[in-house]
Amino acid sequence: MNENVYKRNELLAQKVIQSLKSRNMTGYYAADKEEALKLALDLIPEKSSVTMGGAMSAHEIGLVDKLKEGDYNFIDRDACEDKRAAMLMAYDADVFLSSANAITEDGVMVNIDGNSNRVSAIAQGPRKVVFIVGMNKVCDDIDGAMKRARNVAAPTNAQRFGLSTPCAKTGSCFNCKSPDTICCQFLITRYSRHEGRIHVILVNDGLGF
Ligand code: SF4
Repeated sequence: MNENVYKRNELLAQKVIQSLKSRNMTGYYAADKEEALKLALDLIPEKSSVTMGGAMSAHEIGLVDKLKEGDYNFIDRDACEDKRAAMLMAYDADVFLSSANAITEDGVMVNIDGNSNRVSAIAQGPRKVVFIVGMNKVCDDIDGAMKRARNVAAPTNAQRFGLSTPCAKTGSCFNCKSPDTICCQFLITRYSRHEGRIHVILVNDGLGF
């Protein structure tokens, strides 16, 4: 990463962390993936039940492998035959891992979902939610965050899952109502009612999409 971009991200992260604090959420700055992994593991006590909602960023910092290898009750939805049971277990988990499709400079997160298990678990259920968010996800405001979610995150996810949506074919959003749409639910997280529930690790790197 360009040195000036890195420095700018470092400063911007402090602004986002202050904004999260004003919203009863806790932000952390990680200079790189290794630091992000350490911060995440510090937030997840051993023996915790942990589950996640398709968070590429958690894979990219090596967190998922560590949880699988370590002394955690990692509920691997992909490995469960009963997907519904695995999804329901998420609501009673100690820790839920996620990324954000976008986060604004003033600490509001935007997530879109097709099945909606991810956004519903972010909203309520798991005792703690740990977000791993690359600084590439930071946007000026809600408009920018929604545009990023629909024109960057959604098309890439649609391609990843081989879905038949206009964005998968063209790379941008057509506000579709196709059966495969992944834009069924939009979650805007602007405040946490529960002290100590939402933690956001901002990583000075490009993670996920
Ligand atoms: S509304 Fe449709 S075209 Fe737009 S991002 Fe969502 S799935 Fe893609």
